[in-house]
Amino acid sequence: MIQEILRLKKEKNALILAHYYAPLAIWQVADRVGDSLELSRAAAAAEEELIVFCGVRFMAESAKILNPKKKVILPVADAGCPMADMIEEKELARLKAEHPEAAVICYVNSSAAVKALSDICCTSAGALKVAASRPEKEIIFVPDRNLGAFVASHFPEKTFHLIDGHCPIHNACSAADIRRAKELHPAALVAAHPECGEGVSELSDFVGSTSGILDYCKKSKAKEFIIGTEEEIVWALTKACPDKIFHPAKDGFLCADMKKNTPEALYRALETEENEILLDEDTVTAAARALEAMIRL
Ligand code: SF4
Repeated sequence: MIQEILRLKKEKNALILAHYYAPLAIWQVADRVGDSLELSRAAAAAEEELIVFCGVRFMAESAKILNPKKKVILPVADAGCPMADMIEEKELARLKAEHPEAAVICYVNSSAAVKALSDICCTSAGALKVAASRPEKEIIFVPDRNLGAFVASHFPEKTFHLIDGHCPIHNACSAADIRRAKELHPAALVAAHPECGEGVSELSDFVGSTSGILDYCKKSKAKEFIIGTEEEIVWALTKACPDKIFHPAKDGFLCADMKKNTPEALYRALETEENEILLDEDTVTAAARALEAMIRL
């Protein structure tokens, strides 16, 4: 299967992008494995005619928005992100009407239509930098309330308007899980994603994006870590730091939608070129403004 994927990739001059949460087997055939920000940059710079995005729908949409002339395919049509579905255009339009002075920062985990109504996007890697770049005193931050609260804690001078969006996978990692993991591994440092549930960031030695966690663990002198994000990343950490030990913060820290990107699904996608991402031109133009503002920053 892997050999067939590599053959088709070459034959079709395709670029395969894989998120860190996609299954390890997909990493083997991907041209690039990364977090949302790294993959957005790779999609924007792609020269290949075909981009196959082994992630979830909002990521493939971002690739299409940033490089609209390319054909972008999501291997599994219903690989979605429950958090992205927690904010709709209508609700964001209502919030904007309620707070007309506020800047809208939208986490990339959102639909193209929501991005089109936003001033600037952010990923977890750059959320603080994006918030710091806005002169407005009020910020509407959608959809993740946990990332929003983390960002808001760094800007006490600004008023943040949050909604109840969250990642069901990260939000299920609680402060109690971290305390339990610390009891089991008292020498370990805690590196967690800001999407994790309430109280986790306060108990963590480092809070940051998936690539930020990788970087932190590589540079740290410590030898043992508790990892508060999707557990596929433990493979990347173990490979990058074979002399260190990594413990997932809890059992079953897995994103089922990301795991839909099996080698079989990728093979089918390359063969049939089905599940192309199609967006209307106005949405692409408006959403590109918000995404490009983030990438420039
Ligand atoms: S891990 Fe959470 S935020 Fe990321 S794609 Fe899965 S559901 Fe969405």
